[in-house]
This record gives sequence, C-alpha cells and structure tokens, in this order.
Amino acid sequence: MKKPVIDLDACEGCGSCVEMCPEVFEMQDDGKAHVIAPEKCDSCDCQAAADICPVEAITFVEE
Ligand code: SF4
Repeated sequence: MKKPVIDLDACEGCGSCVEMCPEVFEMQDDGKAHVIAPEKCDSCDCQAAADICPVEAITFVEE
C-alpha cells in the first residue's frame, strides 16, 4: 500500500490537502497538516492532494 507522508519542514499549512482528503489529512495545533489515516487514501485521491500541494510536501512510501 502506498502511504502518504508529509514533510513538516516544508508544509506551509495552506490546508489544501485537508480540503481534498479530510479523512486522511488533518490540520493540527502546530499549524501543519498531518497524516491521520493513511489507509483512507482509498476513499479519496491522495495523489491529487499531493499534486495540489504548493510546496510538494506530500510524498508516498510503499508499506
Ligand atoms: S497542501 Fe501541502 S502545504 Fe498545504 S497543508 Fe497540505 S501538506 Fe501543507
């Protein structure tokens, strides 16, 4: 399974990925998006969320 990973140093907290995949990504108190449920990429288009990220902070790793 491909699992999304966010580079927290790069994330600028725009929230676009959370808008596209709210079950997978969540804004947290540090003002950055975090992956809360990588397995739920099945229910949205995580690749599109990665593509829309303005700083290319979302990448994928094979599990
Ligand atoms: S789209 Fe990119 S920069 Fe915006 S919150 Fe998500 S990971 Fe951060």
